[in-house]
Amino acid sequence: MPSAIAIFAHPDDIEFVAAGTLLLLKQRGWNIHYMNVSAGNCGSVEFSPAKARRVRLAEAKEAAKILSAHFHPPLCDDLEIFYDIKSLRRLSAVVRESRASIVLTHSPQDYMEDHMNTCRLAVTAAFTHGMPNFRSIPPRSTYAHDVTVYHALPHGLCDPLRRRIIPGAFVNTTAVQAIKLKALAAHKSQQGWLDVSQGMNSYLASMQEMSRAVGRLSKKFKFAEGWRRHLHYGFAGSDIDPLADALGKDYFVNKAYEAALQRGL
Ligand SMILES: [Zn+2]
Repeated sequence: MPSAIAIFAHPDDIEFVAAGTLLLLKQRGWNIHYMNVSAGNCGSVEFSPAKARRVRLAEAKEAAKILSAHFHPPLCDDLEIFYDIKSLRRLSAVVRESRASIVLTHSPQDYMEDHMNTCRLAVTAAFTHGMPNFRSIPPRSTYAHDVTVYHALPHGLCDPLRRRIIPGAFVNTTAVQAIKLKALAAHKSQQGWLDVSQGMNSYLASMQEMSRAVGRLSKKFKFAEGWRRHLHYGFAGSDIDPLADALGKDYFVNKAYEAALQRGL
């Protein structure tokens, strides 16, 4: 059975930008894996770090259950996600366990360092999937099949310098939007936190609006998630697009983006 893994920084990041794609893969017979690198201990103004860790772990496990995804526990705390060798070895073990041929992760450019560091860790952990001389912690056997890395859209659909990020491809999440919403709703503790920290009246409504905005960008789908595909060198033998193969008509390549890549803009 083919397998995909979502590696994101914080509990609820997957539900904002990637859960719809995971659900569609699941419906097509894929094994799906769910990993938040951080415990989410800073995402609260009412709980102590220890309680926030506990509450958010339970919420994330519940969300993974709603998505029918294999849950992988976090590795560290908020704002402590660094591109260091220990984190890389531990994440390499998770990728090897998943045997994933699709790795979904953050945009290389995003509004906060945890997201960007998670992206770097996920990319290199994927790179080591077939590299037996790189030691994972705990030791896990490597695998030889191709891996393709896809980057989600950044928060607010722009980079940290406010530049717009345009998706290279769109996934039609309309049919699974209700389950995506239910999985996000499992992160109950985030209603108060996102209200205080980001002025979101309702984090559920914000996710719906973001999905609708990406759908509008596609000019094709009501709700959508957007992706940019990583260069295949070192990951796969050729320039493949397994999301296109798996999702068929629910996947739409942005031809203008591809043309701009070729022009080097
Ligand atoms: Zn986050």
